[in-house]
Amino acid sequence: MKKTFKEYNFFNSSILKALEKIGFQYPTPIQEKIIPLLLSLGEEEERDVIALSQTGTGKTAAFGLPIIQKIDYNITNPQAFVLCPTRELCIQITRDLCRFSKFLSSIKIISLYGGVNIDSQIKLLKNKTHIIIGTPGRVIDLIKRKELHLAKIKYLILDEADEMLNMGFKEELDYIIKMLPKKRQSLLFSATMSKYMNVIAHTYLTDPLEIITGKKNIGADDVKHIYYMVNHISKKYLALKRIVDINPGIYGIIFCSTKKETKEIAEYLIKDGYNADALYGDLSQTQRELVMNKFRNKNLQFLVATDVAARGIDIHNITHVINYNLPKESDIYVHRSGRTGRAGKSGISISIIQTKESKNLKEFERKIGKNFDRIMVPSGKEICEKQLFYFIEKVKKVVVDEKLINNFLPGIQKNLEFFDKEELIKRFSWIEFNRFINYYKNSKDINPIHNNRNNNFRNNNFRKKILSRSKKFKKESFSKLFLNRGFKDNLTKMGLINLINQAVNDSRIHIGHIEILSNSSLFEVEKRFRKKILIGMSRINHLGRPINIEIKN
Ligand code: ADP
Ligand code: MG
Repeated sequence: MKKTFKEYNFFNSSILKALEKIGFQYPTPIQEKIIPLLLSLGEEEERDVIALSQTGTGKTAAFGLPIIQKIDYNITNPQAFVLCPTRELCIQITRDLCRFSKFLSSIKIISLYGGVNIDSQIKLLKNKTHIIIGTPGRVIDLIKRKELHLAKIKYLILDEADEMLNMGFKEELDYIIKMLPKKRQSLLFSATMSKYMNVIAHTYLTDPLEIITGKKNIGADDVKHIYYMVNHISKKYLALKRIVDINPGIYGIIFCSTKKETKEIAEYLIKDGYNADALYGDLSQTQRELVMNKFRNKNLQFLVATDVAARGIDIHNITHVINYNLPKESDIYVHRSGRTGRAGKSGISISIIQTKESKNLKEFERKIGKNFDRIMVPSGKEICEKQLFYFIEKVKKVVVDEKLINNFLPGIQKNLEFFDKEELIKRFSWIEFNRFINYYKNSKDINPIHNNRNNNFRNNNFRKKILSRSKKFKKESFSKLFLNRGFKDNLTKMGLINLINQAVNDSRIHIGHIEILSNSSLFEVEKRFRKKILIGMSRINHLGRPINIEIKN
């Protein structure tokens, strides 16, 4: 049986009240381990701690809640000091700690990060402060100006510590940590154990306890990992567009490897009519906040970002993470994919890879402990179908506010009275779709063809050769079949292949050309298997209606 925060008796009533308000009922595994450790030991015994757990597992509250409870209100100098790599993370941690201490009115928490006016921060530091959250650059600036005094710090928290070293903050960390009293408790939080973490642990921590929950270095459980393959870098952007177009309703982060690429991809997307913006280090603080807020409020559909800019950021309901390139290290991949599938939600992590990168995939799969499933880059037609059905579903499900629309209806109806229903549907659909239909009208298959791994779906469900008839087959060796299901039945090429797999479980069968029409479809299969498929498929009950399948030639 899981115990609630209340049952654990960790916290005073003010904190419990805040947790109830936020909606945290049960501690997460890392919180279950860290909170009692930070709370119950007497001050003499306070040990340093290294805490490792996957992204999205609640590390902020694991250190934040006990620290808030342990603050001595009578001391006016800062007692707890959180260092983190980026401004965004600094703002986020501050926001979380303020939420946790909502009912502790006398607690003073301030954040110190660059890119904003330093004077207002100096002013804040002149008053009583209990907890400071800062990024290395601004913290050093304030120490040098003698505005920030860290001599009374009892608790040091290094959040996403390895990233700080990754970013080249080693000297800054050395400088800052030298200002802290020797007698203190140091806590190191990270999602991954890297060589950097070892450096930090050795340099700044004394005999630390290592607390690890879950497996090290693996992706979140409810994230599905898929990849698309293109044979040349010049096809990546095309593939990206098709991927986002086949996922209507997508809300995601697109990771790029450099600032230049981040900027470029965001610019291309914007130019092509997508709701996207870029987040990278060089932007001013105001610009970054603007982008982040737009994204957080879902007014922005795609955040194109560098790894550093998006590190540790907690945004809910991200449906997809897209890796425009595979990152160099699997740890970075784990951080990226951890942006989705947070707090029990499921998510999809997509990688667009070039054929020559496919050798790296195996290593990633091994390190992350998950299989990456290959999906073919969709065709223009599949995308248009998908968008069309998404729109139709929206039309079916929309709840119209009668009161608001009623005033306008007579006018609308009068204007449209000469169009019959069919014509209206056509026109409304065209307005919604001409962008896709026009763009994709002459589009080509961009999947690479001459590669074994390419031609096979690695996903067990899709273990068939499909889409483009493999060269070694002559046209005569294929037979054309008719099926009484088409895109009006939501059938896609992928769906059809699934049906064939369901009907006959034989990985030797090769499938040729597939054409999905509105109420029916035509597809080619190897002649020698046509009977088997005919019999198998006619037994399937699809959408509650029997399937009609015929051999055309
Ligand atoms: P991490 O630092 O491990 O990546 P965060 O501290 O950013 O994770 O937390 C991830 C998300 O989980 C946040 O949205 C946070 O509000 C939520 N969360 C944290 N602890 C709990 C809890 N005990 N119950 C429910 N949600 C939680
Ligand atoms: Mg975190």
